Formats: sequence, C-alpha cells, structure tokens
Amino acid sequence: TRAHLAAMEKAEALNAYVLATPDKALAMAAESDRRIAAGEAGPLEGIPLGVKDLFATEGVRTTACSAILDNFHPPYESTVTHQLWRDGAVMLGKLNNDEFAMGSSNETSAFGPVVNPWRRKGSNVKLVPGGSSGGSAAAVAARLCLGATATDTGGSIRQPAAFTGTVGIKPTYGRCSRWGIVAFASSLDQAGPIAKTVRDSAILLRSMAGHDPKDTTSADLPVPDFEAAVTRGVKGLRIGIPKEYRLDGMPAEIEALWQKGAEWLKAAGAEIVEVSLPHTRYALPAYYIVAPAEASSNLARYDGVRYGLRVPGKDIVEMYEKTRAAGFGREVKRRIMIGTYVLSAGYYDAYYLRAQKVRTLIKRDFEQAYASGVDAILAPATPSSAFGLGEKADASPVEMYLNDVFTVTVNMAGLPGIAVPAGLDAQGLPLGLQLIGRPFDEETLFAAGQVIE
Ligand code: GLN
Repeated sequence: TRAHLAAMEKAEALNAYVLATPDKALAMAAESDRRIAAGEAGPLEGIPLGVKDLFATEGVRTTACSAILDNFHPPYESTVTHQLWRDGAVMLGKLNNDEFAMGSSNETSAFGPVVNPWRRKGSNVKLVPGGSSGGSAAAVAARLCLGATATDTGGSIRQPAAFTGTVGIKPTYGRCSRWGIVAFASSLDQAGPIAKTVRDSAILLRSMAGHDPKDTTSADLPVPDFEAAVTRGVKGLRIGIPKEYRLDGMPAEIEALWQKGAEWLKAAGAEIVEVSLPHTRYALPAYYIVAPAEASSNLARYDGVRYGLRVPGKDIVEMYEKTRAAGFGREVKRRIMIGTYVLSAGYYDAYYLRAQKVRTLIKRDFEQAYASGVDAILAPATPSSAFGLGEKADASPVEMYLNDVFTVTVNMAGLPGIAVPAGLDAQGLPLGLQLIGRPFDEETLFAAGQVIE
C-alpha cells in the first residue's frame, strides 16, 4: 500500500486519480495486517485497489467526475466496493473517468483528461487512455494500483483496457450489482474489473459479483470460481469469427492480429468457425439512441436540491436551470438533448422504439450464433490503438462515437465480453482482442483469454 501511495504521488501528471485516500488506505492495510496475523485473511487481503469515481464510497467524495456532484460525499457504499473491502482489499483512492461515464477518451471529465502512460515509439505526443474508465486503465498500466473497478455501458471497460495493454472484463448484465453506482444507462451499465492479467481480473470479478436484492436486475445465480476457469484451456471449444466485424478501412494490423488470435486458439485445441451477426452495422446508431434516452431520464435527478452543486436563482425553476447549466459539461448536455428528443411524443416511435427493436435483433443474432454451437466469439476490441489527446475530441462527436463500434453490441445484448492485450502495433502501442461469451459464461472468456494473453 505504501509503495502504491508513493507511486501515485510521483505520477500525478497522468491525472489518473481524482482523489487519493492515503489515511484510509493505511488504516485498511493495518487492519489487513491484523487479519492476516489472526489467520482471518480474506481472498483479497491487503490488495491495494483504485475505484472509479462512479462508485459511491461511504464518506469519501464521489462525483462521477461531474461538477454537478461537486463535493458529494455519499452516506452509503456501492455493493461492488463493499464486497471488495469485505474480502480484504484496500482502497487507494478514486479514479478519473469521463463525466458520468460518457466518452471514449477520458477527455470529458470535470477534472481534466487522463494521460495514457504509453507513448508512440520515438514520440512524446500524449495519448488518451480510452474511456470512460480511463483513470482505471491508466492507473493499472502505470502500476498505481494492483487492479481497479470500472464500468462498461458501451465499451468503457474493454476499450481503455485495449488502449493501455491491460485486461478488462464486462460481465453479463446482472452479474454485478449496480446498486450505489452512478447511473448512466441502466439497461446497459455493468461493473467489472480492469487488471494486469486475466487471472487477476478473474480473482477480482469473483469478489465483485453476486446477487444483491437492492438491484432488481441483479441475477440470483451462484458466482463460479472464475480463477479456476483461467487454466481450463480451450480444447474442444468452438470459437466464432463474426464476418460483419471485418470493417472497410480497418487497419491491416488489427485484421492481422485478429487472425493471429484465431490461430493461437486453434493451436490450443479450439475449432474456429465463421459466424454471422447480420445486424451489427445498426448497433452503434441504436446504442446512441438508447443510451442517451436512458441517460436523460437518469440525469433528471440532478436538480440542485438533492446532491452536490446548487446555483441560486430567483425561483426554483431558475435555480434548476442555472444549476444544470453550470453543472453539466458539453458532452453530457448533448446526451440529454438527444435523449429527450428521441423520447419526445412526436419522435418516440421513429427513434426510441425503433432502436429497441434493433436491439432485439442484435440480441437474436448472438442467440442464433450460440445456438449453432459456438462457445465464444473472437473480435477486435477497438478499431485503432490509442489516439492523441485532443485528436478526436476536437473533431466531431460521431468521430468519437465510432470508437465503440466493436463493443456496444455486447452491451445491447447483455453479454459478457473481455478485452485482452494481444500485441503491439507498428508504433509500439498495445492492441486488444475481444472475446464475447454466452450469458453468464464468463468462465469460457477467462479460459480463452488466458490463451491469447
Ligand atoms: N463511449 C461510450 C459512450 O460514450 C460508452 C461509454 C461507457 O461504456 N460508459 O457512451
């Protein structure tokens, strides 16, 4: 814990943490020492972790990296972090993220952007760590924690993991409780870990997962021993390659790495088959209707009365307006406007309802692939390696949204997906491959991910 706290101080330029909690960390570590000495060690005893600022931490500032939650100190702990502390983990601090987890580069945070610890060969240009869990990914990559919590609504665990050479798993929707996690799009949001290795991510997920009566969408299923699955191998598994993921203009290096990944799995005893997910091309536009719609509804609660920021006005309506105008950043306002538009009376059928129908078709594509006997699907995690700070944020929002092309399908279908570092591109930057599993079969993802890692 002390070594990590010292490393955090030295790495402040990365802006990975928005709050360090050294006193709490040292007290928790001392308690871990006591439990170890007493023979009461939990499965994560003394392991120092970072927490994405989207998770409510009791008495510790939680802002979702938005000015509207300025100085909010929740009186409760999220279920996921509660379970990590129950199992002995130590909290180092709160990690930066895109404001309300809306973004793909960690450039929308009210605390400023996170810097990726990686650089292109022979260059000092600062790169983004991906988003929205950019702080989690950068902190793990730079060894500022042994693992981190993260959330994934459309790729926010897997894309930053791929950009930083780390492992990130978005479990099946319902595997981890959403209770105490600041909501973005409730039907898509899932918590998961970012870690150095497949094995570490399996160990962390086991503590984070499990049924919680406080989240009605949490699945009442036993949590498997994910760690045991890591060394299971892939002999006899059928791995599907979805032909629709072969995009025009995809960098040849990513295509080649994808091919290599298939060969590694084949060499380890898996059978590789082509599958078709015909509605893939509609996933991104449908996601950018469903996610903002839910976000606009979830963000209605920030009214200057209940949490954080309040900007006074002459009456309550003006107070709402001034608070929301000052508290929300540009991207969040854009999502609220898109969301309220697609939900409004005249447009509901044309946009929101249509997107929900597309969502069902996407889900069915996967069901058909799995019904044909495929155990998991192999795809790239991202359409590029990490890009420069400002490079896409200053372009059009659509340019940024295109980053999520390989990840949003998984959230739309509620499936588990893991991103595993698979190699470096010509610039020396990490590239990730993604494995997509059957519902509640994270074990196969850990087994296959270990072969690729
Ligand atoms: N980049 C996507 C978005 O901005 C996904 C974000 C996420 O998964 N939280 O909506």
